Amino acid sequence: MLKKNKKKINLLDLNLKKMIDFFLQLGEKKFRAIQMMEWIYKKYCINFNKMHNLSNILKHKLKNVSVIQLPQCSEEKKSNDGTIKWKFLFNTEFVETVYIPEKNRATLCISSQAGCALKCNFCATGKLGYTRNLLVSEIIGQIWFVINKIHQFKLKNYILHPITNIVMMGMGEPLLNLRNIIPVIDIIIDKNGFNFSKNKVTLSTAGIVPAINKIAGKIDISLAISLHAPNDNIRDMIMPINKVYNINMLLLSIKNYLSKSTANRGIVTIEYIMLLNINDSISHAKELSVLLKNIPCKINLIPWNPIKNSFYQCSSYEKIIIFSNYLKNKGFIVTIRKNRGSDIDAACGQLIGKNISQVNI
Ligand code: SAH
Repeated sequence: MLKKNKKKINLLDLNLKKMIDFFLQLGEKKFRAIQMMEWIYKKYCINFNKMHNLSNILKHKLKNVSVIQLPQCSEEKKSNDGTIKWKFLFNTEFVETVYIPEKNRATLCISSQAGCALKCNFCATGKLGYTRNLLVSEIIGQIWFVINKIHQFKLKNYILHPITNIVMMGMGEPLLNLRNIIPVIDIIIDKNGFNFSKNKVTLSTAGIVPAINKIAGKIDISLAISLHAPNDNIRDMIMPINKVYNINMLLLSIKNYLSKSTANRGIVTIEYIMLLNINDSISHAKELSVLLKNIPCKINLIPWNPIKNSFYQCSSYEKIIIFSNYLKNKGFIVTIRKNRGSDIDAACGQLIGKNISQVNI
């Protein structure tokens, strides 16, 4: 059965344009594609038999050539703070997705790759190494699964806040999986798909400059940049990608992206991890303020989350506040990211998608 499925098209791999092509190739009208998107993304129905506005002949045709196949969830872990982490099994790879509820919103953090190739040395995923790009269906499936799960919980009177924001900040570097990330974004913001506002969808990147330039003007969602350092010396040390695309190149590509984007009021989020005695002094804050002087941005300071076998330490709360106040006095909007889900290894940079015993980091 599975073998047969392998050759079939998974409809979760198709954005609206590809869905239309698919139905046209079946000899069907374009509106069938819209109907199918409605079943999948509005009614959360993935069973052809239950799609009552499709004829039996069409259902038969569909079953012959396609499937709607979700990722297989292998584990669900709940944190004391309400964060939930799901682990999915894709073939042989484990990948994680994190749901982070807050008072008036809930953010879903999705993964774009199994592992990561970038080797940022403060990040657990980076230490894991890279396995492969996730397919569109494997990324879309994470969102579909969680929205459906929230609905199921509701039926059992366990109310979770609906997802309001989606962030591509899970495992992997989304811009190194551009081929699949572009249709994923289409489906997330398409009114026939999940229908999220472009302001509520954020792609976080370590700074793949050619990809940022490539998506400029083609994709318009909020962009977050993992800058983490105020100069190339420090950035080279903690993020090897900086030796390929340095800070100057990165800032130019951000300006280019912003010149063609209206999402998030035309500003980029600069992520800055706080590492004790590495990048957290007042002189670093000063350097950072000069660097970002001409970039419309908001700065998100991220207290570093401990990972196994790392020599880094997180800056003290006092130091983070002093750093933040310095930048605020210079006129920047600064927020400090709350640590969520660290008791279940679901916080930023802690996703490894394997059982701890399997990993040697
Ligand atoms: N590859 C993308 C998305 C991955 S992670 C990127 O680099 O942006 C999302 C954020 O968590 C990034 O800013 C990443 O640098 C940060 N991060 C990684 N390890 C962390 C850790 N141990 N503690 C806090 N943040 C971490």
